[in-house]
Amino acid sequence: LSRHKKHGHCKICGSYGQLSFEHIPPKAAFNNERFYYQTELNKLIEREFKEPEEYFEFPSKGKYSRKMQGGMGAYTLCQKCNNLTGKWYAANYVDYAHQVMSILLKSNGKTSLFYPTFFFPLRVIKQVVTMFFSIKHYGFNKNHPDVVKFILNKESRELPKNIRVFTYFNLVGQPRRIADMVLGNISSHRITKIDELTFPPFGYVMTIDSESPDDRLTDITYYSDYRYNDFIDFYQRFNTLPTYLPYIPADYRTKDEIIDGIRKSKKTDANN
Ligand SMILES: [Zn+2]
Repeated sequence: LSRHKKHGHCKICGSYGQLSFEHIPPKAAFNNERFYYQTELNKLIEREFKEPEEYFEFPSKGKYSRKMQGGMGAYTLCQKCNNLTGKWYAANYVDYAHQVMSILLKSNGKTSLFYPTFFFPLRVIKQVVTMFFSIKHYGFNKNHPDVVKFILNKESRELPKNIRVFTYFNLVGQPRRIADMVLGNISSHRITKIDELTFPPFGYVMTIDSESPDDRLTDITYYSDYRYNDFIDFYQRFNTLPTYLPYIPADYRTKDEIIDGIRKSKKTDANN
């Protein structure tokens, strides 16, 4: 994977110039070649194969997996925004991610006890929003200048009220990097504008003018009420959810539920 110089508009401040490679999540938060594999599980949805079980042989089956050298990321931010957000937010985020990964691995993903974690809530939510800036299409900064201010002023606690951030723990499945999706609910006529970023040990969902897409997610929008230097000990337990389908937002079905769903829809197709 070549990482030569690229030019473009920074997805946060909008300035044009040389872009730096942004690891999403930060490289030190387990985002390196040892942990990240990319697959083409969307083929599962296209029902191209006969036996659904085979898709989950991962990552041992090289057929569907590809090693990403150096971790997952993209050229999205200018050097200045990259450096500032790295210094202000990412450093604490990395530390927090290590605490949570350690808890999840020790408990095998079953967090039945309340383990304490220690972190700066405002810095964590700002790192999360920074990562969403990087994965969203260019233009989010122009349409949401208040969110840009929230990120580029480290003391700011003014996350716009129509934006909500949710989280869960994640240990199994695929990484998700889904931006600018719109989910429709036929019965309620509601639409949900959603972005989702999943990378063990966390999953994050950001919504705009929308409600939570799943009751198992925990709303952490209130982290933005803390001050920059507020450091807390935190005992809340989040749900640990699997993400087997990398391109479908807010889908937390188990492997068995997905396979069962495929079998049922095949049966329906055969009967029609
Ligand atoms: Zn910038």
